[in-house]
Amino acid sequence: MNPTIELLYLIGSVLFVMGLRGLGHPESARRGVILSEFGMAFAVAGTLLHPHIVTYKWIAIAAVIGSGIGIAMSALIPMTKMPERIALSHAFGGLAAALVGVVEFYNHGHHLDHIKAGAISFEVLFGGLTFTGSLIAFGKLQGIVPGRNITYKFQNQSNIVVFLLTVAMMVTVTMDPSQSVVFYCMMFVAFLLGVLLVIPIGGADMPVVVALLNSYAGLAASATGFALGNNVLIIAGALDGASGFILSVVMSRAMNRSFANVLFGAFGSAGDSPAAVADSEGKEVREASVGDAAMLLSGATKVIVVPGYGMAVAQAQHAVRELGEKLEENGVQVSYCIHPVAGRMPGHMNVLLAEANVPYDQLFELDEINDEFQHADVALVVGANDTVNPAAKHNESSPIYGMPVANCDLAGACIVLKRSMNAGFAGIENELFTSENTVMTFGDAKVTLESIIENLI
Ligand code: NDP
Repeated sequence: MNPTIELLYLIGSVLFVMGLRGLGHPESARRGVILSEFGMAFAVAGTLLHPHIVTYKWIAIAAVIGSGIGIAMSALIPMTKMPERIALSHAFGGLAAALVGVVEFYNHGHHLDHIKAGAISFEVLFGGLTFTGSLIAFGKLQGIVPGRNITYKFQNQSNIVVFLLTVAMMVTVTMDPSQSVVFYCMMFVAFLLGVLLVIPIGGADMPVVVALLNSYAGLAASATGFALGNNVLIIAGALDGASGFILSVVMSRAMNRSFANVLFGAFGSAGDSPAAVADSEGKEVREASVGDAAMLLSGATKVIVVPGYGMAVAQAQHAVRELGEKLEENGVQVSYCIHPVAGRMPGHMNVLLAEANVPYDQLFELDEINDEFQHADVALVVGANDTVNPAAKHNESSPIYGMPVANCDLAGACIVLKRSMNAGFAGIENELFTSENTVMTFGDAKVTLESIIENLI
């Protein structure tokens, strides 16, 4: 082992650990990202010093193409499309791991020891299913593949059979690395498995799936590290795999889903629940002008702001902060309720509100603040929908039944800012909009908030 390479890898690994730690809190998240970037720079520098590199020509070409795509993706893809972008990144990460595994097997197949053969098989299995699974997740989020859960008879049973078949092939290759036909068959079945595992999962459960695929991509990368004898890849992959897994558990807890239920329950479908839709049919919606909304807010002593995906679309976070400041100046107590799956990626609302410099001590996780709604004069819903839908609390036939939601229905009054009566991500109607204490102020959230600020008394 070259000591310079190992030292660079060690520094890179320490920076990854510190970066991940920084990501644990909005205040230190930026520092965490920068530390991780430096970690990656050290890891790449170490890899480029590898004595087995015969020419830098193809590496340079790949680096230029990859960087070009990366810069274009970062510059062109809006924040609202972040989950789709992340799903694509996982797909490419999985494919890269699978391809490295194939190359290693092709070059050394017959001479591999059992441990290396096992690592390569694991890498190709998880890399392959991450690739196709992430592509399906991307398709669902983007609307190319139907967002609802696609189910058929004996689906779970047949998926388990395919999974066991793949594991059996993996064990065969591990025990006898000369079994190249079995190896390539395993790769194709892994691709199929990725599709089969993700199609039954409905749109509303996508946050958990994307986090889980993140974990699979990390595990595949870690196995690649074993196959190549690359320590930094083992460590970075393990960190990615573990943090992705923890995130998916946290997300499924936040949605009050058991892990098994998300993976095998085939629910969370978009708009497949007639009972949920029927709920608000025929009920009246009370519309409020910006003047009415401003008056309600001016007369309040305690206001809880509930941001959602619509705030991200409208880029209304700065207007939200400005309104909050104005209300506080007038003696109103303002807090923000952050639902764990609000928006389209974990921490989406935290990122936007931090960007707008909303004080951290005014931000509360859902479970910290949910009991406070009953004491609030106004709940101000800024582009949130599924995360404030009371059907989740009592309508057993609703696809979001059981998911904790913000108790906006318990506040003295609820003002909802959105453009129309359109449904949110889960595709279901929201009975909050027709409840007695709710008024709707229609329009783009940013424009509406700016007008409300002008109308404050
Ligand atoms: P929703 O997606 O339920 O609803 C967002 C609402 O914003 C829409 O109803 C839309 O109504 C409104 N809106 C859109 N644009 C604007 C605008 N310019 N101004 C004002 N309103 C606007 O949002 P939530 O945050 O409540 O819920 C998130 C959903 O996304 C959950 O179902 C969650 O499971 C899912 N999800 C979450 C992920 C995560 O990691 N956080 C990842 C993937 C999915 P209208 O068109 O009428 O304006």
